[in-house]
Amino acid sequence: MSGRYLIRTFGCQMNEHDSERIAGLLEGEGYGPAQEPAEAEVVVLNTCAIRENADNRLYGALGHLKPLKDANPRLRIVVAGCLAQKDRGLIQRKAPWVDVVVGTHALAGLVELIRSAEREGPQMDVREFTEVFPSALPAHRGSSSHAWVSVSVGCDNACTFCIVPLVRGPQRSRPLGDVLSEVQGLALRGVVEVTLLGQNVNTYGRDLTVPGSGRRARFGALLRAVGAVEGIRRVRFTSPHPHDFTDDVITAMAETGAVCEHIHFPMQSGSDRVLRLMRRSYRADRYLGWLDRIRAAVPGVSVTTDIIVGFPGETEQDFSDTLRVTEEAAFDAAFTFQYSPRPGTAAASFEAPIPKDVVQERFDRLVSLQERISLERNELMVGGTFEVLIEGEGRKGNLKGRTRTNKLVHAAGDSAPGTFTQVRVLAAHPHHLDGELVEVGERRPVPATA
Ligand code: SAM
Ligand code: SF4
Repeated sequence: MSGRYLIRTFGCQMNEHDSERIAGLLEGEGYGPAQEPAEAEVVVLNTCAIRENADNRLYGALGHLKPLKDANPRLRIVVAGCLAQKDRGLIQRKAPWVDVVVGTHALAGLVELIRSAEREGPQMDVREFTEVFPSALPAHRGSSSHAWVSVSVGCDNACTFCIVPLVRGPQRSRPLGDVLSEVQGLALRGVVEVTLLGQNVNTYGRDLTVPGSGRRARFGALLRAVGAVEGIRRVRFTSPHPHDFTDDVITAMAETGAVCEHIHFPMQSGSDRVLRLMRRSYRADRYLGWLDRIRAAVPGVSVTTDIIVGFPGETEQDFSDTLRVTEEAAFDAAFTFQYSPRPGTAAASFEAPIPKDVVQERFDRLVSLQERISLERNELMVGGTFEVLIEGEGRKGNLKGRTRTNKLVHAAGDSAPGTFTQVRVLAAHPHHLDGELVEVGERRPVPATA
């Protein structure tokens, strides 16, 4: 097979990473990247099922592809990812011009499915269990200095709003040795920053035993081991469930120089009543206590979160608890979501849905509170100088990069992507900082053998 491919990715980092795997598989078959669907022989929509608008976006995108398929019957249209796993046969019933539906556990067979579709017509593989861990597949990485590394897939929790356990299955961890050899290989190719990915990264290893012993691999040990890989200067991870952010993880963060001072710590709600309905095992006071402990152990750590507004039955009192706890937690940033009922989840059948206008009004209040807090947090950095890893060109010809605390920085100056620089922060905004380069460090040379 040869020709060109285009991948459109919806959703989270996990999907971004799966798309790198899909690109790697297609490039292994001789395909090259296309810029537009009209130039491509294979178009892949890698979907997300977390919120309802994902469904609308998928079927909208498929509608746009139909005229292309009518004009070019050799075009292969693939739907991959969580919505493929969730909607299964429905996708080809609604859009019969889709050639392949490939679920989250079947990615390894993608090329074979495309081949079969050419010979036999539409194909679907939505098996329930992962046989090949996605990270064992080849990848085409989007950046040469940063890489996503998946350490576990699936989730054993049962938060009542969340479809992830239904579409990604129970947690399966990748053996520590496999993770480490991938990170070592990446470092040899010049990667300096890795983000460890899992739905609930800090329960990593619960389903594994350390070879030759009865002990279980632990996330703290993984952090230390990845942080010790030569050439890796920054280690990030996402997402931890607050409940599983145990002392050994906090200590590993504090003691491992390469682990960045940033945690994404999804709170979901500040109301104890709503947290109980969400089946999140902590309560607001405990959550704030954990934050205090982490901040004491990891000085300067930045904290981001996820918050859902308008969960069924959320009262004005519940919402004001969320505002109060948000203020107290002083998050650096928050991803705020309007609750979206997901078929098959427990909360989808809960009574007392919140009217759309009420959800919108609460959501706007939360966003404006968080914008103020984010700005205040960022203002604390003005005048300071911070290490920024350059990612590429930003706005108005400036460079853009990130601090260890994951703050986005736009800086005037000249430097190549993948370079560690020192940037003096001149101005703060809610979502980024402006600064100037005061020192350009070395870009790590890539060994000739890599
Ligand atoms: N594993 C992470 C955790 O435990 O918090 C969350 C992963 S989920 C992919 C990312 C975020 O999407 C969640 O933290 C939640 O805030 C949001 N989310 C999930 N289901 C949702 C729903 N039904 N409606 C609105 N937001 C939702
Ligand atoms: Fe979903 Fe995260 Fe809860 Fe797992 S822990 S069910 S991924 S929200």
